[in-house]
Amino acid sequence: MATKSGRYWVSWANTNAKNSNSIEDLEPGFRACAQAFIQALTEAGAEVTVCATRRCGKRAYLFHWSWKISQDLCAPSEAEPMEGVSIRWDHGDLAQSAAGALEMVRGFGLAMPPRCVNSPSLTSNHITGQAIDMTINWQGTLKVRTKNGDEAAVPYLEDVNQNTLLHAVGESYGAIKLVTDAPHWSYNGR
Ligand SMILES: [Zn+2]
Repeated sequence: MATKSGRYWVSWANTNAKNSNSIEDLEPGFRACAQAFIQALTEAGAEVTVCATRRCGKRAYLFHWSWKISQDLCAPSEAEPMEGVSIRWDHGDLAQSAAGALEMVRGFGLAMPPRCVNSPSLTSNHITGQAIDMTINWQGTLKVRTKNGDEAAVPYLEDVNQNTLLHAVGESYGAIKLVTDAPHWSYNGR
């Protein structure tokens, strides 16, 4: 028996579809890359704070369709089903379906237009455990080892997206910077 979209699904997701900020939950290949990169950074004296690693696929699913339906970007009947998530997007009434979806968008704290104009992704590298969000702080110039053992001198920049020297160090370990998303590194830069 499916449950209609609405507030219920926010508490459901907070129990049954949680995100992780643990490196242990990453896909093993990328986990090794991220661990080695972070180890080099901390050994050099940087402070690394991991904010997000693996995103739960079911949570991403709820984010995606609630956002689209609430913004009238698709009909409630167009939402695809997902195994293990017994949600009814289509209440049989467009206004009620949109209201149920909007309750979820608000409950999840998702950014809406004009602050954010893209629907939350169903295909993020976080979902497969191949991306990590982290902040990296240090003062002055960091002398950090690249994977082949060379020492790189990386000055601190306020905008990490501009710090190409840091990106190069990450890349040597297989952690590629996405330059439009400050905390985001992944296996392929997306
Ligand atoms: Zn990210």
